[in-house]
Amino acid sequence: MGFVFGPVPSRRLGASLGVDLFPEKICSLNCVYCQLGPTPDPTTTRRSTVDPSAVAAEVRDRLAELDRPPDFLTLSGSGEPTLSLELGEVIAGLGDVTDVPVAVLTNGTLLSEAAVRAELTRADLVVPSLDAVSDEKFRQVNRPHGSLTAAGHVQGLEKFAATHPGRWWLEILLVAGLNDSPDELDRLAAVIRGLRPEKVHLNTVVRPGAVKGLRGLSDDELTAAADRLDYPCDLAGRPASDKKIHRGSVDPAELLAMIKRRPVTAADAAQSLRIEPEVALQGFQVLVAEGRAVAETLDLETYYRFVNGR
Ligand code: SF4
Repeated sequence: MGFVFGPVPSRRLGASLGVDLFPEKICSLNCVYCQLGPTPDPTTTRRSTVDPSAVAAEVRDRLAELDRPPDFLTLSGSGEPTLSLELGEVIAGLGDVTDVPVAVLTNGTLLSEAAVRAELTRADLVVPSLDAVSDEKFRQVNRPHGSLTAAGHVQGLEKFAATHPGRWWLEILLVAGLNDSPDELDRLAAVIRGLRPEKVHLNTVVRPGAVKGLRGLSDDELTAAADRLDYPCDLAGRPASDKKIHRGSVDPAELLAMIKRRPVTAADAAQSLRIEPEVALQGFQVLVAEGRAVAETLDLETYYRFVNGR
């Protein structure tokens, strides 16, 4: 199994080398905006997914191929990282092979579990999500597993915030017309003031999601939402790092590995893989012709999405 993907330019984390603990999408939520498409069967049951020593070895080998280290090793990808029983061991194993800081992107729904909170103490940065405080909006936007509630999600975050010893940011993704009303923003603001994250990363829809026709907020709308939250916010924007990273030669497998985790434009792929945009475009056109990718348009940009195996 290939655990490592990228490096990819991350709007949150700069140059991010992704570490994926799942061979396919496994998640407790089924977010309307999910770039991986629908969750087949949402679950809250943790399970064994990887051999931590194999993950560490693959990361060590990939880092040795790069001219410069990435800004972060980021546990994310095809599934919700906290659903892997090996989460803590993987983080510890990565610390044994590199000094590159480890970030965990999590939807936060398992933070009510003490074991999950304990394992996350080993990460250098944790970025849990909270898109809605009202149960109605939580169900509309995140479409959770039946056992999950918005109140339970917030309570898990409160336990995490009260005990986590390290750095953490809160991620909020706003979808126009769904969870960006003044009332919902005021509810989020009240919860954020109690949680006191280092900062809030305010995001919106920028790529095709599980549901077609979603609209992201404009820059002005996002700024107005940040004003309403009245808390230090980073707004979604350009990648946070211009750090140049050399990649090896490009083949279709590299493009497929990239779009398996999220839809990308030819320009995204070119920047990640350090190739000319035309080369990326030609590669994607071949994959589309072979039926291994589809092209979708959002906000006048063409994104390529993985289709094999789904
Ligand atoms: S966006 Fe994240 S939390 Fe939501 S369904 Fe996709 S993988 Fe799960």
